[in-house]
Amino acid sequence: MPALHWFRRDLRASDNPALDAAGRDALGVFIHDPRLEGVGKVRTRYLQAALEELAAERALIVRTGDPAQVLVELAAELGAGEVYCTGDATPFARRRDAQVAQALARAGVALRQIDSPYAVPPGEVRNGSGSPYKVFTPFYKAWLARGWPAPDGPVVATPALERWRAFREQALGAYKRDRDFPALAATSRLSTAMHFGQIHPRTILAEIPDATTNPFARQLAWREFCADVLWHQPQAVWSSLDTRFDTDMQYDQDDAMFEAWTQGRTGYPFVDAGMRQLASEGWMHNRLRMVTASFLVKDLHMPWQRGAAWFMQHLMDADVANNQLGWQWVAGCGTDAAPYFRIFNPVTQGRRFDPDGEYIRRYVPELTDAPDPHEPGVLAADYPAPIVDHSRERDEALARFQSLPPR
Ligand SMILES: Cc1cc2nc3c(=O)[nH]c(=O)nc-3n(C[C@H](O)[C@H](O)[C@H](O)COP(=O)(O)OP(=O)(O)OC[C@H]3O[C@@H](n4cnc5c(N)ncnc54)[C@H](O)[C@@H]3O)c2cc1C
Repeated sequence: MPALHWFRRDLRASDNPALDAAGRDALGVFIHDPRLEGVGKVRTRYLQAALEELAAERALIVRTGDPAQVLVELAAELGAGEVYCTGDATPFARRRDAQVAQALARAGVALRQIDSPYAVPPGEVRNGSGSPYKVFTPFYKAWLARGWPAPDGPVVATPALERWRAFREQALGAYKRDRDFPALAATSRLSTAMHFGQIHPRTILAEIPDATTNPFARQLAWREFCADVLWHQPQAVWSSLDTRFDTDMQYDQDDAMFEAWTQGRTGYPFVDAGMRQLASEGWMHNRLRMVTASFLVKDLHMPWQRGAAWFMQHLMDADVANNQLGWQWVAGCGTDAAPYFRIFNPVTQGRRFDPDGEYIRRYVPELTDAPDPHEPGVLAADYPAPIVDHSRERDEALARFQSLPPR
């Protein structure tokens, strides 16, 4: 009996245990789910190119519709008794997969979920008493101690693999030193390829000889941690893990301020450069994700959910676990005791991580000739004055936090 392989976030033909289990002759299918149509255009375009690359590698059927219905129909057409897929961990995916499994079972077809988009499947790293970790560093240690399997067979060359290997040759050695400087090409830019599973983290980890101490492998562990937190606490997609932030915090909802943030016209050059990088490239450097998110939450006093929704719409690498937990970390309402009083100063952050203003000038051309592009003020005729005063809003943010009831 032929099998079907349902591709989702594992868009690769090698090092894919679920695809291997489905068998060499398995028919591959990708289903565009109309429930996900709200995602941003930039991500949809990337997905389209990823599907074309996969289709050049192996036969692929692409359908649109409710996956339960499409798979039941396809299995009947082909006489398939099994549908294989790589497990997924988001709350939406888990609900969908439960529905699909039920629908297939009614038709006498088994849904077999194998592997995950992570080195260690979410939910499997536990402390001595079997509970999940709430803080990154102990999770990281336990994750390292648990270890991960080697890649499943030879890995076929793809643009994602080439990107990883080029990064490994050219930038991995300097990653720790340079990764926070957004003007440099010092990070891997593999987040989108990893989101769609064009490359699996175990492929990367296997090619880092000192993976247990390597700072890049440590960042991969952050990705695993976010997925693990979301696995145990699916409500974290839109609810603050510190629930006081949803029930008791006082927020502002000024649409003009929000628009200034989205358009990169806050008058804070480092923040504006980050938001304009997002608008023009569908990607933003990690340092800027932290600084721009902090600005929205702590300087403009808006709920993190509003900014997270904007990022989900505009990031090519939009990933529910990394994005929502990244926002909760910045807002100070996540699992770990990230102190609320850690408020990023957008000016000193810029001076420290973009000392020559090269990154700012790249994305905010109005400031090309400004002698000091960091200090907000009257910097150029066509560049806005700061929309808020950072030190005043910092005090305001702290006061609002102090007024929360005790945890
Ligand atoms: C507010 C906010 C929102 C974010 N939203 C997303 C998102 O939607 N999608 C996304 O993939 N990442 C997100 N991140 C995490 C991080 O910013 C990006 O993964 C990283 O900038 C991607 O660039 P890179 O591939 O060059 O990273 P590199 O520095 O090369 O890191 C390698 C890989 O490690 C993982 N990684 C690195 N840093 C983190 C982190 N802090 N948390 C989780 N995983 C990490 C990513 O998979 C990344 O591709 C967010 C962070 C913050 C603070």
